[in-house]
Amino acid sequence: MYELPGRKGIGIDVETGEMRLCEKGLAVAAFVPPAYSGFYMSAFETDPDAPVLPLFCYSAAGWLDGKFYVPAVRIEQDIRQDSEGYDKEEIDTGVKGLLSHYPHNRLVSHLANNCALTYQCPAARNFALGRWECPIPVSPACNANCVGCISLQPDEETIVSPQDRLGFKPTVEEIVEFTVPHLESAPYPIVSFGQGCEGEPLLMWETMRDAIIEIRKHTSKGSININTNGSMPKAVKALCEAGLDSIRVSTNSVRKEIYTPYYRPNNYQFEDIVESLKIVNSFGGWTSINFFVFPGMTDSIAEYEALRKFITETGLKMIQWRSFNIDPDWYLGKIGVTDTGECLGVKQLQQLIREEFPDLKYGYFNPPIERINGKFEMDFAHH
Ligand code: SF4
Repeated sequence: MYELPGRKGIGIDVETGEMRLCEKGLAVAAFVPPAYSGFYMSAFETDPDAPVLPLFCYSAAGWLDGKFYVPAVRIEQDIRQDSEGYDKEEIDTGVKGLLSHYPHNRLVSHLANNCALTYQCPAARNFALGRWECPIPVSPACNANCVGCISLQPDEETIVSPQDRLGFKPTVEEIVEFTVPHLESAPYPIVSFGQGCEGEPLLMWETMRDAIIEIRKHTSKGSININTNGSMPKAVKALCEAGLDSIRVSTNSVRKEIYTPYYRPNNYQFEDIVESLKIVNSFGGWTSINFFVFPGMTDSIAEYEALRKFITETGLKMIQWRSFNIDPDWYLGKIGVTDTGECLGVKQLQQLIREEFPDLKYGYFNPPIERINGKFEMDFAHH
């Protein structure tokens, strides 16, 4: 939870019932942790000379009977990124083990030293602990220029990206060397291309294709997933033919006119991400969207109508309702939106979509093959 520099809180006056600015102190907001879906944004007015806020989450926060509250719901029962599940000593031991097992593997060294120990990446720490989802960053470059990119921010911007972009192109051998043992030995194993510390993995599709083929020569266990901007349908087809199990396409909106000014694609269009999802669906693969939830926009009537069409057209299997970590005013300014239109409330949006698409799954993380092929609702107490 934090106070917001140069921003005054907006609230309802307890006597008049009128909405008004609070002159005392600064506005506050809360960073709702992974697995939770936030319903409302912190309400504040930004001073003209206020600094742009970093790429954090700005959920509303309140106080009642001696406790803080946030309007949110646990949308994902999987405990893989619950903070209480991480023990620093065990992680340090795990990292030492990885570095001694794979002394010449640049990717393991990156995941161990940068991701697990420096960025504190939950996925890299789970890899060090030999469990669940293991990250495979592969691409130093990207074919999009997202306003809120988490691995590269242009010099002219005042904010910085929370991670630095990968500085080398891993080889097939480097990828296969640690992913096969992870798939063989980890509980509920997943290996995922496309991480926050790289550009767009599809730019490295030949390497991923060859790695998937090699991995499947050694093990049939677990799920091979890609987190991607979905920009290259032909490359996605080649990965499906090689054995890709699941795809997660990230998006701030399923409306082209909201998507394009945010992603600022170099050489692809919104229609390409739709096509990529349809291709994976045609191969019987698992399809998710990494849906950046921006209360006031995501729950607008226009987005709701577009989402119904998008789910039907793509045969989507899952929505991962992700908090959109971005300064709200900066974001709206960058994509040129002044009027966000009438909105439903995120909670109601989730209810309406669930009623219309009862088989569509909700969550926050890529499901393991046990959930994809088996009972999706799992008991995580004994995970
Ligand atoms: S697709 Fe990913 S890596 Fe590329 S600009 Fe967007 S956030 Fe950054």
